[in-house]
Amino acid sequence: RGYRVQYNSAIGPYKGGIRFHPSVNASIIKFLGLEQTLKNSLTSLPMGGAKGGSDFDPKGKSDNEIMHFCQSFMTELYRYIGADTDVPAGDIGVGAREIGFMFGQYKRIQNEWNGVLTGKGLSYGGSLARKEATGYGLCYFTQEALKALKDTTFEGKTVVISGSGNVAIYACQKATELGAKVVAMSDSNGYVYDPNGINLNAVKEIKEVKRGRIKDYLNYSSTATYTEGSTNIWNVKCDIALPCATQNEIDLNSAKTLVANGVTAVCEGANMPSTLDAAKYFIENKVVYGPAKAANAGGVATSGLEMTQNSTRLSWSFEEVDANLKKIMVNIFKNTYNCAVANGNEFDLLTGANIAGFEKVANAMLAQGI
Ligand code: NDP
Repeated sequence: RGYRVQYNSAIGPYKGGIRFHPSVNASIIKFLGLEQTLKNSLTSLPMGGAKGGSDFDPKGKSDNEIMHFCQSFMTELYRYIGADTDVPAGDIGVGAREIGFMFGQYKRIQNEWNGVLTGKGLSYGGSLARKEATGYGLCYFTQEALKALKDTTFEGKTVVISGSGNVAIYACQKATELGAKVVAMSDSNGYVYDPNGINLNAVKEIKEVKRGRIKDYLNYSSTATYTEGSTNIWNVKCDIALPCATQNEIDLNSAKTLVANGVTAVCEGANMPSTLDAAKYFIENKVVYGPAKAANAGGVATSGLEMTQNSTRLSWSFEEVDANLKKIMVNIFKNTYNCAVANGNEFDLLTGANIAGFEKVANAMLAQGI
């Protein structure tokens, strides 16, 4: 069963990812659509909010089976989307391979090339740095938040990252570049802990090339250990936690464990990974808490930059896209932080992001009489 929820187009065409996962249902796609609307507003780019997906499980399927599913999905979706109407992107279970198959089917049906999807391959209109954008942007946001709220940086910090997909991999890469040591990563079965620091090339080979399990990391490192159960990863002592797997992966108990172990910052790469009571616990305990709609907005922001490049028929360099991404993330942090301060608690970036995102959408709706 497939879904597309077109949530709000007050500030631009509907925009949001497509998710293939057995847990997908209308309720999940709706809350993700609302999150996306406020997040897209925060980026300051002209994008409305949407989300889509299917309960199709891509695990264990051949390339051909994936292609046929993507083509069928697009055969139904194409009439609702368009470069100026609704521009989907990837999400859980939908990466460059799936976007390519869907894009091909859209063109087959429409007989025209337009930037109707983002996250495309580089040879057919994709943007450099889109693949890296969510993880990199998360670290840029976290760096700003650490500076403002704790007068510190990633340098010398121990980091735990859940997930080992697109967001997790590039968060790991940037956090390491910024001087931190990432000691644990996971998938939906369990997590690996490597006290010497995760070997990211091994994770990339397992996940991006072999499409294997995180447990296979043990074949690449003699110092690593594997523990069953993905949420157990929050028992690993760390300074910075970057949840990058899925929604509701940090509950109040996990939040209490993280705080008891001295965590300084929890910034969200995944969408709504902390339950509401976990988020409130972080804020009460003056942990730097970066809510998803602000902290992971780098992905959709760079999708917005991909739309700009497609419209102008130009391709920017990696450095140009990355510099824009960084500027956008710094700006998102500032707007979020200023709203949190104005609301009376500089640690409450959750309320700050909601206010900053909502006001712009609400004002645009009022102005248009919607
Ligand atoms: P991927 O499919 O590339 O990776 C998802 C990772 O999370 C995998 O390691 C997967 O493990 C794990 N995971 C998925 N579902 C569960 C679950 N129920 N329990 C535990 N682990 C799980 O997805 P992305 O990296 O693209 O997305 C990760 C998160 O980031 C999602 O919340 C997504 O909405 C959000 N996000 C993504 C953006 C992007 O640009 N890609 C932009 C903004 C937000 P396994 O392989 O075992 O399923």
